[in-house]
Amino acid sequence: MRVAMAEARPEALPASFVDEAQRLLADLVRIDTSNPGGCERPAAERCAEELRRDGLEPLLLEARKDRTNLVCRLRGSGDLPPLLLTAHLDVVPAGAGWSHPPFGAEIHDGFLWGRGAVDMKHHAAMSVTTLRALAREGRRLRRDVILALTADEESGCDLGATWLVDEHAEKVHAEYALGEVGGFTLHLEGRRFYPIQIAQKGVLWLTARAKGECGHGSMPRQKSAVGTLAAAVAKVASTPLPFHRPEPTRAFLEVVRQTLGFPKGIALGALLQPKIAPRILAALPDRALARTFHAVLANTVSPTVLRAGDKVNVIPGLAEAELDGRTLPGSDGEKLLAELRALVGPEVELEVRRRLPAVEAPADTPLFTALGEAVRRGDPDGIAVPYMVPGFTDALAFSRNGTTYYGFAPVGLPPGIKFAELYHNVDERIPVEGFRWGMRVLHDAVRSFAG
Ligand SMILES: [Zn+2]
Repeated sequence: MRVAMAEARPEALPASFVDEAQRLLADLVRIDTSNPGGCERPAAERCAEELRRDGLEPLLLEARKDRTNLVCRLRGSGDLPPLLLTAHLDVVPAGAGWSHPPFGAEIHDGFLWGRGAVDMKHHAAMSVTTLRALAREGRRLRRDVILALTADEESGCDLGATWLVDEHAEKVHAEYALGEVGGFTLHLEGRRFYPIQIAQKGVLWLTARAKGECGHGSMPRQKSAVGTLAAAVAKVASTPLPFHRPEPTRAFLEVVRQTLGFPKGIALGALLQPKIAPRILAALPDRALARTFHAVLANTVSPTVLRAGDKVNVIPGLAEAELDGRTLPGSDGEKLLAELRALVGPEVELEVRRRLPAVEAPADTPLFTALGEAVRRGDPDGIAVPYMVPGFTDALAFSRNGTTYYGFAPVGLPPGIKFAELYHNVDERIPVEGFRWGMRVLHDAVRSFAG
């Protein structure tokens, strides 16, 4: 990984700021903000303290006691609308089985280890430091740069981004936002890509329900609720839904196809043909990559919870499964429902429990171009590429506020480390050099775009 380039630029971020960003990241990882269970207040206060050192005036805003959001604005001339930097302060619970303590922020083998290292306290530390550096520099910016550090992203954003947009829309309103997920190195066939999130899938959480005759366990029924539901769940789990050609994935594969050329690029480009995509994915040796491609080419459903009966000798009359459905942009879940109904048949009833739309932003904007240029200044062989994330982020809330949201929280990753596998996993960690590289690239991108 080349890191020299950004350091060599005359207007590059002074090393002292990069050191401070790293210290702040370590402090934030040591503050347990597990959600559910924790609170964001101490982490927000720690960031506020940093911002005040450069004369900034952070606001701490709470929907509920200690579930703290931080908003801070660095004023520009107002010639152009604001740019928002955003990161969530909460993390998912650490769980057991870590090689190093999850709230220790210890450095081993060139990595800083801990829950939140990449999801996403690194971006909180980088964004705070970017704002401080711009304030210290005192150069007149053409855009306000707003920082929003949010609570509660890992439980659905209700006390965080959603609440901020509902209650304080004007404080966080911006033309563009930079948050998770994107800007990390994706090594593909010897080339380095930097995916920038322009879209995220929607959510369709469902309960599947089957009914049948109750009775004594000694007298089996041919059609039981458990039998019907189990057969349907088995089908859902083993049958991929139809493949599509979603625009963000088309844009991603087009860049990959052109960059890699024959034969690898052509093979990956053929993923856009719904009929042959399943066969290409089945042949990919990298199973994690195959899973990711599948998720951005099709609506998906994972059966996650099963409920039926509570006594071994009683045949229950009702069996239920919870299904985690994720929808491609443009269909608002109806397409997935139709695909799923065709699969489970008429005997299983499907009830929609929660529906959130997908988010999609254009990739042909001045900010996307500026991010691509910042990536190339940081890594001359790096290629920025638009992509869609299968998961769910604060992007939905901020997009609702009229903001074009990109996932760009840059991290330089060495080959062999897969970003997606660090998420919500044990042994979450960030390469120290890759973090320091990302700090410079983010500062460079914001400074050149807002300046
Ligand atoms: Zn996250």
